Amino acid sequence: MRSGWIRPLIGAAVLAGLSLAMPACRTGAPEGARAARVVMVSFDGLGAPLLDRWLSDPTISTPAGLGGMAAEGLKAERVRMVNPTLTAVNHASLITGALPSETGIVSNSYRSLGDALTQRTNGFRTASEAPPLWVKTRAAGLRTGILLWPGADFSTPELSGDFGISWPTRPLIRAEILELDPAQAEGEPELPPVDGLQALRWRIPIIASGEELLMLEVAVMDVLPDGRPRYQTVAFRNQGEVSWRYLEERQWFETRLDAAGSSDHGKELYGAWSKVLHLDMHRGGVRLYRGAFNRLLAFPGNFSDRLTAEVGPWPGVPDERALEAWWLDMGKGIDLDTFVEQVERLDRYLDNVAQWVMANEDFDFLLAYHPSPDEYLHAGLIVEKDQWAWSHGTAFAAREGLQRCGRSIDQSVAGLWSELNPLKDVLVVVSDHGLLPIHDEVLLNRALVDAGLVEIVEQGGRLRVSDSSPMIAVTSGGMGHIYLNLKGRDPGGVVSEEEKGNLLRRAARALADLGVEGEPVVETIASKDDLAALGLNHPNAGDLVVFLKPGFAASSRLDGKVIRPSRYYGQHGYLNHHDALCGIFLARGAPAGKGKLKEIRAVDIAPKIERWLGLAGR
Ligand SMILES: [Zn+2]
Repeated sequence: MRSGWIRPLIGAAVLAGLSLAMPACRTGAPEGARAARVVMVSFDGLGAPLLDRWLSDPTISTPAGLGGMAAEGLKAERVRMVNPTLTAVNHASLITGALPSETGIVSNSYRSLGDALTQRTNGFRTASEAPPLWVKTRAAGLRTGILLWPGADFSTPELSGDFGISWPTRPLIRAEILELDPAQAEGEPELPPVDGLQALRWRIPIIASGEELLMLEVAVMDVLPDGRPRYQTVAFRNQGEVSWRYLEERQWFETRLDAAGSSDHGKELYGAWSKVLHLDMHRGGVRLYRGAFNRLLAFPGNFSDRLTAEVGPWPGVPDERALEAWWLDMGKGIDLDTFVEQVERLDRYLDNVAQWVMANEDFDFLLAYHPSPDEYLHAGLIVEKDQWAWSHGTAFAAREGLQRCGRSIDQSVAGLWSELNPLKDVLVVVSDHGLLPIHDEVLLNRALVDAGLVEIVEQGGRLRVSDSSPMIAVTSGGMGHIYLNLKGRDPGGVVSEEEKGNLLRRAARALADLGVEGEPVVETIASKDDLAALGLNHPNAGDLVVFLKPGFAASSRLDGKVIRPSRYYGQHGYLNHHDALCGIFLARGAPAGKGKLKEIRAVDIAPKIERWLGLAGR
């Protein structure tokens, strides 16, 4: 099906990504010495150019952190990730040493061969067809812990370590921003008046699935009898508690409760981190960020109990939607400072988990993962004037916030290194991709609806692609798989072999014609025949695979304009030849040796780990 209507692939650049690793100026121990323990941590979204900038600024300079790794260990100039440059895809390739054509993980979300058109496979919860390292290590009797590696959700033996934690599903209760209005407050006689100001108190019910789990009491009061009446302190407690706890504006507090979520077997410990975003000292109003309630998901059960007792409930992920709202209207959402504090809290929590595990669990191989760079950059990569929330001020603030994320990551690396034996163990730091700034979203299905190629229906007030649509676009990041609904191949297929070529041509035309001010938004549209050159020739891949140009993000949404300004600011998933999308590889510890490697490929990393673990040649 290779024909003239396909936009030319970026052949030379794509193939350059497949070049072999070129070792250079290596010193110290030969690469391949056996390590006592190997710890590999992935910092999602930490691109090679960003790390190099941080090392030379120097935003990061802790001797035990990334600077020390770069100076004293083994460091690759960059890692050419696999296509598409998405999280689930690249974590599968990092941990298997296999391309998506062999892992079958072709996107974060995709349609597996044999599934109906509108069915989805979640790349974060699916076993790779090529064996991941944890399957090999466990088969070899090496005790393996997995602290949040994408693709290891502990749902089946092949997606599990001997122990570990997995990414929490939805929170028990979502976060919300509450405007506590003085006009709605009651007096609180337990808190005595100061400077003539009576304390104001609100009751906030904490409700899950219609059941009230807790009543939070929040009060504002004056505490200094200085003749200046002002609400300067916030008091809070759970209803039924005797004593109040006190804090000031901009401070956080944790609320814990026992509850059984829909997927829990019994009661579990949940927690939420909330913050007083604003305190009106004059009138007494409070703007409260009431954090989401989450719990830690750890395996097996006795490990979960011991770990939860030590580190507490999962603190929640940074609230990206709330920051995105704030960039455009500082009266909405959460401010940058609050978001970065969430980033830092999650990093410190994961540090505590890893350090407790390293001090208390026997292991040969430990995987760890931090989502923070990716989360920050999606919500805060504001660097270009054509981005919706760009101003001199937002761009400056965003740059400062990013530096704080860099220092937080560096602290995590230093924490891991401090628990290892530099003579016997190896610490490996990797990432799965960088991110590029975006300014617009492209609704691929909407474009195909407009071209008469995707059929939609309304269901419960929402639009969705109909099960009998001739095709569908399934998007992740800056790309999308376009699947035909083919008779004889797909359950409920409607497209015949004779119609196939014409429909794909029309779809490619419709997408290639999409443009902003005459500039196309699509970089490449690959047909099945083109996928081998991209490392993506697997039956799970689309009949067409569309890669957008950097600057544009793909969306599966069906409502609204095909191209519209993006409310978030960083994305990945583009073709891997863009250097900003390259990931990182550093290793430290005597068995790893020392030196600089030129560019390596994502699939070159797993074989190195196998050698350090003594698995190679078994
Ligand atoms: Zn990622």
